[in-house]
Amino acid sequence: MARTVVQVETVTCDAHQAGGANDEPATVVMTIGPDQYDLCEKHADKFRDYFRDLFKAAKENAA
Ligand SMILES: [Zn+2]
Repeated sequence: MARTVVQVETVTCDAHQAGGANDEPATVVMTIGPDQYDLCEKHADKFRDYFRDLFKAAKENAA
């Protein structure tokens, strides 16, 4: 009987993992300088919103 070993790499969401769940698939890679995070769509959207707010606040403070 022939046997084949198939390895499947699963990338899971770092933010979900930080919250205790480690089975949410990650579809987005976020890079900040030397750091890289794997995120699901939901968390990627959340981080995009954070950054939009941060840039908005920085722009308001600079004015
Ligand atoms: Zn997530």
